Amino acid sequence: MEAVILAIGDELVLGQQLDTNSAELSAALAQHGIATIYHRTVADDAAAIEAAIREAAAGAGLVLVTGGLGPTDDDLTRQGLAAAMGVKLVLHPPSLDALNVFFSDRGRPMPPSNRIQAMHPVGSSMIPNACGTAPGIKAAIGPSVIYAMPGPPAEMTAMFRSHVDPQLEKMATQHNVIVAVKIPTFGLGESSVTERLGPLTDRRRNPKVGTTVSNGYVNVRIRSEAGDPAAARHLLEQTTAEVVERLGPIVIGRGERTLAESLVDLLRAGGGRLATAESCTGGLAGAMITEVAGASDVFAGGWVVYTNAMKIDQLKIDPALLEAHGAVSEPT
Ligand code: AMP
Ligand code: MG
Repeated sequence: MEAVILAIGDELVLGQQLDTNSAELSAALAQHGIATIYHRTVADDAAAIEAAIREAAAGAGLVLVTGGLGPTDDDLTRQGLAAAMGVKLVLHPPSLDALNVFFSDRGRPMPPSNRIQAMHPVGSSMIPNACGTAPGIKAAIGPSVIYAMPGPPAEMTAMFRSHVDPQLEKMATQHNVIVAVKIPTFGLGESSVTERLGPLTDRRRNPKVGTTVSNGYVNVRIRSEAGDPAAARHLLEQTTAEVVERLGPIVIGRGERTLAESLVDLLRAGGGRLATAESCTGGLAGAMITEVAGASDVFAGGWVVYTNAMKIDQLKIDPALLEAHGAVSEPT
């Protein structure tokens, strides 16, 4: 089964708010072996929402939509969904009752604008919202199932976990499981890493192997898909071993491992101790090392010698060397 995730909101397309909902949903779908084929961010515009839902439903068996279910004029997901389904919006009396209870519990009259939140497209069903006023909507277009959920991340997460995720579990049991791992490497550029990986990066391969660059690391990402979790893990481990063998010492570990953690472990294993002498990094190397738990086993301390006078006085650097080569030079 494949999925499309749509995030609705002007604040998202304007770059004022980061779309965290789609990332969270994709990760949850992968747990069920449901592959997300794309994310799309759509402005608060009924026609654009309608078009995006139509296209998503034509391309995937599952469509998850977040945002645009609020009570104001710019919340247009329910209208866009109804248009994509080719039906009208109707009142759902139990949802209106729930809204009235929500407001009377808080000692306030319900603003008339909230009534729209009790409306849903003919043929769809409502998903109760335990944390806010906007119910979610479950609908279908042809064979495609659509879930529309509220935009605020806390409401979205609560609704997804209690009402959507359990249904996906049932839908997904006869489908594949996806497991993935990240292997961080350091010291070679992305194209050199890819060259060393050779045929492993073939896009038709399972597990798939790809690379991404972030914060100075080249991360190798391995994604394995199989009929059951054990088989998916077995394939993942096989490919991981091949990747590690091909890349050798530039591999610094598995998952969220840093260069400093890898260094501290190597020193500990080899009985080594470390001191640092830094200039223009201003102590950054020492700070990165002392961030690792247990660094005191291997790290003695360091100097930050910024001026030439400090370099000469504290580290006994020959003034002639500084004179001849400058402070930023290999001999110094
Ligand atoms: P809405 O359901 O459109 O009324 O969304 C209300 C609020 O939820 C917005 O102001 C955003 O702060 C937040 N929000 C909506 N969509 C997302 C998203 N995809 N990721 C993170 N926050 C979101
Ligand atoms: Mg909105």
